[in-house]
Amino acid sequence: MLPTSIQATREAIAAGRTSTVEIVKAYLAAIEDQRYLNIYVEVFGDEALREAARQDEALTQGAKLGKLAGVVVSIKDVLCYQGHGVSAGSAMLENFVSPYNATAIQRLLEEDAIIIGRTNCDEFAMGSGNENSHYGPTRNAADVARVPGGSSGGAAVSVQAGTCLVAVGSSTGGSVRQPASFCGVYGFKPTYGRISRHGLIAYGSSFDSIGFLAHNVQDISLLLEVTAGADTKDSTAPNKPVLPYAKAAPDREPQSIVYFAELLESDALDDAVKESMQATIDKLKGLGHTLIPAKFSYFDYVVPTYYVLTTAEASSNLSRFDGMRYGHRSPDAEDLQETYTRSRTEGFGAEVQRRILLGTFVLSSGYYDAYYGKAQKARRLIRDQLQGILDAHDFILMPVSPSLPWPVGERVDDPVANYLADVYTVLANLAGLPAIAIPAGTAGHLPVGFQLMADQWEENKLLRFVKGL
Ligand code: GLN
Repeated sequence: MLPTSIQATREAIAAGRTSTVEIVKAYLAAIEDQRYLNIYVEVFGDEALREAARQDEALTQGAKLGKLAGVVVSIKDVLCYQGHGVSAGSAMLENFVSPYNATAIQRLLEEDAIIIGRTNCDEFAMGSGNENSHYGPTRNAADVARVPGGSSGGAAVSVQAGTCLVAVGSSTGGSVRQPASFCGVYGFKPTYGRISRHGLIAYGSSFDSIGFLAHNVQDISLLLEVTAGADTKDSTAPNKPVLPYAKAAPDREPQSIVYFAELLESDALDDAVKESMQATIDKLKGLGHTLIPAKFSYFDYVVPTYYVLTTAEASSNLSRFDGMRYGHRSPDAEDLQETYTRSRTEGFGAEVQRRILLGTFVLSSGYYDAYYGKAQKARRLIRDQLQGILDAHDFILMPVSPSLPWPVGERVDDPVANYLADVYTVLANLAGLPAIAIPAGTAGHLPVGFQLMADQWEENKLLRFVKGL
């Protein structure tokens, strides 16, 4: 059995019970055995083995390695890794090779992380079931007939199925927490700006955040510690101190935790999720925390606000894919206009096209004020109300998804059903707050999780609290 934490992995290597090469071989075997899950777009097997051998050799020479030596990581196919393909799950970028490293990837490599491959995801991170990928759906390892969630579905299953130790994903509206919850692992997104977005393929730039999926909160804390902090290449990553999150002790002091009581009565929430939420509330009370039922006035506006703003930002971000400098260029086009039209029509899948059209519409003159302008105002109201709660209390407790993982194919023709299911996760991205999905057992054979949100820049408080659970 492979160790399931960074600390246990490093101890096993240090004590000579295993080697880095043995660990990488075991993960590669797990990948091979589970090809049917369609987790990886590409596996960097030989390279990972070479890096493992280098580390083993360095250890025998007594060299000091980085904080992530021996740690096998998968990266979502939206993160630039120099000299490696990165496609955002899209035919548009199928043959694209990144000429540089994302800042977060660079920082992981500097601490000797071993990158084993890039994971499948919804095209340009647009989706909630990993079914919008050019490479086909990823399967949930708990039930291969069901989705793993999205858009970081491959990332979640890569950890769930034991094909790597930890995964790097990205979240624009829930793409780390929701698949984590569907796959029974931890999933964390920090405050907007906490980790540089340089080298993360853009979807909605005022929402996008890099995040992590792991078997425990301790590993997430270390990944945050290594990757967080200012970056001259991303002006939205400010110079806030990065704390030693990994070393920070668990916090078991009583906390004041708000939950939205109306959700527990809502028809929109599956009974299994309601029961799990109630059990979590009872458990937290039992640990001495104060659970406070509160109201949130804007649930009906959360999904529309998110989808107006993110499609607007996506329509702008994705305009760079025009067949000119990189990405798919239609071989059949005969003039400039046709090159644009055909390249984009052939390169983008249906959901991405839908969102570009929606986003272009809400930004168009004559509709801008009615849609984009209004959604910006709604975002402010949503953010202010959450801020008011977090000024008076420590955390907000929420479900992650209103439902359990659904059958593959069930929602592919119903985009609105997919959008509505994002209601609980998009809040943290609308408000830029740090949030974590925590496994809460299973309903039948399907994993279910819950979510905690904290105030901006309060990652340490949130992670210490979760360590204490
Ligand atoms: N499901 C949401 C969407 O489709 C969130 C995706 C994400 O966080 N990347 O936009």
